[in-house]
Amino acid sequence: MAAERLQFHEMGLDDRLLKAVADLGWSQPTLIQEKAIPLALEGKDLLARARTGSGKTAAYAVPVIQRILASKQSVREQDVRALILVPTKELGQQVQAMIRQLAAFCSRDVRVADVTGKTDLSAQRPLLMEKPDVVVGTPSRVLAHLAAQNLVLHSSLEMLVVDEADLLFSFGFEADLKSLLCHLPKIYQSFLMSATFTEDVQALKELLLHNPVVLKLQGSQLPDSSQLQQYSIKCEEEDKFLLVYTLLKLRLVQGKTLVFVGTVDRSYRLKLFMEQFGIPACVLNSELPVQSRCHIITQFNQGFYDYIIATDEQSLANPAAAPPAGKGKKKRSSERAGKSKDKEFGVSRGVDFQNVANVLNFDFPLTVESYIHRVGRTARADHPGTALSLVSHTELALLAEVEEALAGDNADSVLKPYTFRMEEIEGFRYRCRDAMRSVTKQAVREARLKEIKQELLNSEKLKTYFEDNPRDLQLLRHDKDLHPAVIKPHLRNVPEYLVPETLKGCVNPLSARRRRKTALRSKPAGVVRSSFKKNLGGKNPLKSFQYSGARSSRS
Ligand code: AMP
Repeated sequence: MAAERLQFHEMGLDDRLLKAVADLGWSQPTLIQEKAIPLALEGKDLLARARTGSGKTAAYAVPVIQRILASKQSVREQDVRALILVPTKELGQQVQAMIRQLAAFCSRDVRVADVTGKTDLSAQRPLLMEKPDVVVGTPSRVLAHLAAQNLVLHSSLEMLVVDEADLLFSFGFEADLKSLLCHLPKIYQSFLMSATFTEDVQALKELLLHNPVVLKLQGSQLPDSSQLQQYSIKCEEEDKFLLVYTLLKLRLVQGKTLVFVGTVDRSYRLKLFMEQFGIPACVLNSELPVQSRCHIITQFNQGFYDYIIATDEQSLANPAAAPPAGKGKKKRSSERAGKSKDKEFGVSRGVDFQNVANVLNFDFPLTVESYIHRVGRTARADHPGTALSLVSHTELALLAEVEEALAGDNADSVLKPYTFRMEEIEGFRYRCRDAMRSVTKQAVREARLKEIKQELLNSEKLKTYFEDNPRDLQLLRHDKDLHPAVIKPHLRNVPEYLVPETLKGCVNPLSARRRRKTALRSKPAGVVRSSFKKNLGGKNPLKSFQYSGARSSRS
């Protein structure tokens, strides 16, 4: 089947684009690219439902660049020819980076400017005055620039892309998007990309697209179980910490892992808890300055960190837009009040975290949509992935809704219960309680404040110093210990007698950690891949623990 797939070089693309694609190491187009690129090159409007990680950015970026190159052969005048609307700054940066990579061999002909950043409109004005060929921005930002006449599109625009269209609505950009359309010419080609086809997206389709081709390529919104393993563990609230300790400290979960929590406070609670055991992690939330957030994601993608504790706040910030998955859902009101939060932030959505081996839902997501977006951060392109959800009794209704939705979507993708004997890890409970005693409310508050101060400083450095000294950029780390809690050095080690019988000989946490450190030292950044399966000669310890546990409970 793969052999029949239309190849990049059969699409009539400019040689410079083909060279960039080869440089990226893409041997063949993904399904959506294979379908969308030729249709787009024919001039068709497209509405594409593409699951996250399907390669959808290049599906529109390649035809956008191709068309710019073609149109510059006849009209050399510099003008803004394409506008790409995105819901978040992170996605904006990512789209810009992707376009730069694809236009690496024609960078003089295809210039791109991302205006999603928080800087003043006036500071971005000179960027737009140069009339970059492609402008990337959120609807509000672009509208503000249009209103300030920093940007004029009514005579030059040839292509409009609305990426993650469903999210633009849930992020509250609808009015801005509609006002923005008045500034566009009568005729232009449009691409609408969306993970889900909501009513809002259908309405936008009527408004934007002319006779579009609709591509619904993926039946399911998540890859099937041959690529993505989904598990759930039902547990008590306190057990969540015990489980995280076991999973990470015994390295049952290996490779780069995104841990999702429900609130910012919880992310610091978990970070401080992990800190007690010498497990470093970055936190990522909307309170951090955008430069820091983007730097954390870049470094994570380059293999600097194993763990990010992310707060998926959008459904909290915007509860009306994302209906609750479970009845009787309690809103985390203290978190929703946050004044300093960034509306255009979304960790679980759109952001291209690379080579994520596992998504760990420490807190279960509040909506089905959020579950899909979170879990979609792993098993991207053709990589395998594991999603593990810790579900307390108060979250059971949410789990049921997700299971029902996924069963309707694809019977194969229902979450499997992760079966093992809780008694086997009971020995660790005392250590976890000991650690939790240091993670007081006061410690969490202090950690949160300290981190924000630290990251504001980092952000300043990122803005100025590192521009002049790019080589030093990698020295700036975001996973340092925060230390407001008392550290008990003995907690860092796992005594051999506490390791569950079924894992003895299979997992050696200390030597695994040492091995990882050596690997990090000996490999250049960007080459460090997920160590999933590697440490155990291809055996996944998460699986071996489960299956042996299940066997022993039967015997
Ligand atoms: P996206 O769905 O656009 O966020 O892309 C997900 C990831 O797939 C990105 O890291 C891309 O660099 C990667 N990717 C896109 N197209 C291809 C391709 N044809 N072959 C391999 N990887 C790809």
